[in-house]
Amino acid sequence: MKNIIIFGAPGSGKGTYSDEIVKRYGMGHISTGDVLRAQIQAGTELGKTAQAYIDKGQLLPDSLMIDILADTYDALPEGQGVIFDGFPRTIPQAEALKKMLAERKHDMGVMIELVVDEDTLLKRLLNRAIEQGRADDNEETIKARFAVYHAQTEPLSEWFGKEGIRHTFTWKGDKELMLSEIFAFLDTL
Ligand code: AMP
Repeated sequence: MKNIIIFGAPGSGKGTYSDEIVKRYGMGHISTGDVLRAQIQAGTELGKTAQAYIDKGQLLPDSLMIDILADTYDALPEGQGVIFDGFPRTIPQAEALKKMLAERKHDMGVMIELVVDEDTLLKRLLNRAIEQGRADDNEETIKARFAVYHAQTEPLSEWFGKEGIRHTFTWKGDKELMLSEIFAFLDTL
């Protein structure tokens, strides 16, 4: 399978659909949010730094995230394709990803954009706060994450459009429908 970049607002389902894609196509999965939460859990220095940003709903510095991404990527077996979930989140991160992959003679593959209305996103995130107890799923932090998303991450959609690899899937109220549309597309690759 080619590489896949899964892209969307907080709560758009990046993690959920990534898990389904991994199950179907057996590829690698890098969730930068999961990497950071594991560091927090392990009580490392990186975890302490990450916590301060995550609690405020802010992004960690690009240079730090780019190093983490490259290390995580290089630790995965080669040749099976990787789904990037939660990275890139800024234009410098996207440019660094493209360069890192090119240096390894790999490419970005395809970008899957999940478009979900903001009412649904908010409901999902508040629900996740109850179900999973994620500390950054409280109303104040969620608002900050949306603001960061609109200011820093959303412009990347255009960037991927210009790269010619953006494929957009819009939420129509049904997870299975969304999944079957995504699979129908990925099956053609
Ligand atoms: P996520 O689980 O993808 O929603 O990520 C949770 C939090 O981790 C984000 O709100 C950021 O604080 C941080 N984070 C995850 N990925 C990145 C990234 N690519 N760049 C900067 N910060 C990140």
